[in-house]
Amino acid sequence: MENVNINDILRKFPKMQVILEDKAVAKLVKEFSYDLVKEKLNELLISEKEKVKGMILSGAMPEGDIFEAGHFLKLLEGFFAGGLTYSLKRVINGTGVVVHTNLGRSILPKSAIKNVEKISSSYSNLEFNLEAGKRGKRHSHVEYLLKKILFCESAVVVNNNAAAVFIALNSFASGEKKEVIVSRGELIEIGGSFRIPDIMKASGVKLIEVGTTNKTKPADYEVNINGNTALLLKVHRSNFRMTGFVQEVNPLEIVEIGKKYGIPVMEDLGSGSFVNLEKFGLPFEPTAQEVVASGVDIVTFSGDKLLGGPQAGIIAGKNEYIEPVSKNPLGRAFRIDKMTLSALEAVLFEYLDLNKALKTIPTLFLLSQDLSEIKKKGSRLLNKIKKLDEMLKYMYNFKIIQDHSIVGGGAMPDYELDTFCLSIKHSNFNAHKLSELFRIQKIPLIGRIKNEEFLIDLRTVLDDDINDIIYNIISVSKMS
Ligand SMILES: *Cc1c(COP(=O)(O)O)cnc(C)c1O
Repeated sequence: MENVNINDILRKFPKMQVILEDKAVAKLVKEFSYDLVKEKLNELLISEKEKVKGMILSGAMPEGDIFEAGHFLKLLEGFFAGGLTYSLKRVINGTGVVVHTNLGRSILPKSAIKNVEKISSSYSNLEFNLEAGKRGKRHSHVEYLLKKILFCESAVVVNNNAAAVFIALNSFASGEKKEVIVSRGELIEIGGSFRIPDIMKASGVKLIEVGTTNKTKPADYEVNINGNTALLLKVHRSNFRMTGFVQEVNPLEIVEIGKKYGIPVMEDLGSGSFVNLEKFGLPFEPTAQEVVASGVDIVTFSGDKLLGGPQAGIIAGKNEYIEPVSKNPLGRAFRIDKMTLSALEAVLFEYLDLNKALKTIPTLFLLSQDLSEIKKKGSRLLNKIKKLDEMLKYMYNFKIIQDHSIVGGGAMPDYELDTFCLSIKHSNFNAHKLSELFRIQKIPLIGRIKNEEFLIDLRTVLDDDINDIIYNIISVSKMS
């Protein structure tokens, strides 16, 4: 490979001008303008050159028609075929993962969508106290609901839970010599490089690790408490489970230790559900209300995990600890925006009636769905498939199978929920190819593969998705 000169190879690419002069391009220019087509072509040339550079550096030689003008015409036409579309788009979640971080976590209830529209299409009292006629606090619009639901003294909201943990630690546990005690078994990493030790370091607190990976006892906290101890921190393990020879200190014991030594206790709940999901067959997790009631001084959790709201971080607890958080200048950097706030207020409002919330908040609804409801979605889909063209049905093989979905969002990691899936087989495409083809449709469908079968998990399929799945089945059949 040492004789390969990258520049010599890159020179093999067609010149931009040559491609632009092609008849096929003229058609696109007429429809989408010269500037737009040229700009896209430039982007394509750059990205294909990068691809080739990468290949050469890894010792491979590019092959196929990548150096032909025709290759770029095909890419251009492909891009413009669907007209101009947004990059961020709706997808059909056929993965069965209800709180899927890569697919946007929670879907908002209708009331939240309506409120976002209303508040963001006009001026609002975002930071204006209507009674006093002067500047107000943006937190106030959700704090009154959080107090009602959680029975906490105060609450503030920030951009997400990572920011909530960060600003809470920074507000009352950072600075010269101050120490925060955490169990070694809770020094976790949550997807996307959120690592508790790193967050702690960045927020300016000194981490004191206690116990061992698998076992931490009350005495481990106690022997490490000294005059510098500012906080006892408990972190929900979220995305993994330890089994075997394991011991952890339960929050009540930590609260007792905190009281004994006059040190505050904070718990990062991660998901923080307001509803006990046990009656839907899910494993026991203390609700955020229960954690507050247990005497933990500060709790933090996400707005878009089991709560089923927009991306947000909620910090709730005792006045004396929430106050420094609300005064922290970092609050400005982490502040929640009005669209999020209007969605969050509407979602919290739903929780004033828990039975209603189970139906109106999609995340709760998708988790608490009856197996028979999921099966019905499958039957509706199969009925529509039956009406499709004979040729098409000949290419495919459809069947409904029973399988398992997961909660997602780091909640209840090893727990499987019963579900039904539509299994799709195709005479020309294997499961991986099918998965790819469904993913590149106008309304992409993301499924999963199990035992070389392409599955659409019906738990996370919404009623409005059914017709689009049929559309995708037809569209994929035309690609063979
Ligand atoms: C998910 C999670 C976070 C991060 O929350 P985001 O809202 O994604 O920022 C922090 N701590 C725990 C325990 C979590 O599960």
